[in-house]
Amino acid sequence: MTVPSAPGAQADLLDDAVAILGGARRILVFTGAGISTESGIPDFRGPNGVWRHRDPARYTLQRYLADPDVRRERWQDRLEAAGHGYRPNAAHLAITQLQQAGRAPVVVTQNIDGLHQDAGTSNVIELHGTSREVTCLACHRRLPVGVVLDRVKEGDTDPHCELCGGLLKTATISFGQNLVAADIEAAMQEAERCDACLAIGSTLSVWPAAGVPDRAVHNGVPLVILNDGATELDATASLRVPGRAGAVVPALVERVLVGG
Ligand code: NAD
Repeated sequence: MTVPSAPGAQADLLDDAVAILGGARRILVFTGAGISTESGIPDFRGPNGVWRHRDPARYTLQRYLADPDVRRERWQDRLEAAGHGYRPNAAHLAITQLQQAGRAPVVVTQNIDGLHQDAGTSNVIELHGTSREVTCLACHRRLPVGVVLDRVKEGDTDPHCELCGGLLKTATISFGQNLVAADIEAAMQEAERCDACLAIGSTLSVWPAAGVPDRAVHNGVPLVILNDGATELDATASLRVPGRAGAVVPALVERVLVGG
């Protein structure tokens, strides 16, 4: 893929991004829901985001625990998502290339969709957990999501743990739920070790996750934000590149890897 098809201003911004990231040996890639929209998965706050037609208050842990209708809605959402068979897009694949070239040993994501791993990326820290597994909120055993979705399909619309009767929930972190301490600590450590940070497809408005690129900035590391829209960390970024991840990330990675 070549960059010159991009309009002039965009090409200049890519030149600047290559100048910053080209010299970096350890790039922390930090991703959000926007990297997966071109795979067909809606984000939350983008122009076609879930918040346009759903009430964010229904997505808290407290509502999940209290309201069987909320749980039924979530399981139906999961069933529908599983039916789509979402696949990684060119941006996920380009990040794998960057990693395989030794330039991005760790990827930190807010996504729960598992598409980085499907694209072949390893060392992915999933700050908000994964929708590929289910956990019992009482006995904490974990199950593959498919096992539970089969029960939902068969009419068990609010499934409970078959061993202890506890509530089942995908192994994701809902609003109002604490992150796994080891995950956020590992991500913060990477923010202190990296020599550049590339944030892709996130409004950087969900905390403490957004504290990861923020920590990198406070550590004196340049932050490049690639997002189709404003973010909460725009003011502290070294560079903002607007655009669609599926086009911009592969072009950027290709140029970073050839050294210009
Ligand atoms: P967000 O919805 O707050 O922001 C996404 C941003 O990406 C928006 O600014 C949007 O305009 C931009 N965007 C959309 N498509 C893009 C593209 N193709 N290229 C570049 N930018 C694009 O998402 P967030 O900051 O990740 O925070 C939302 C929370 O929702 C996260 O915690 C995440 O866990 C969760 N979430 C995850 C998924 C997923 O796993 N795919 C999907 C929806 C929400």
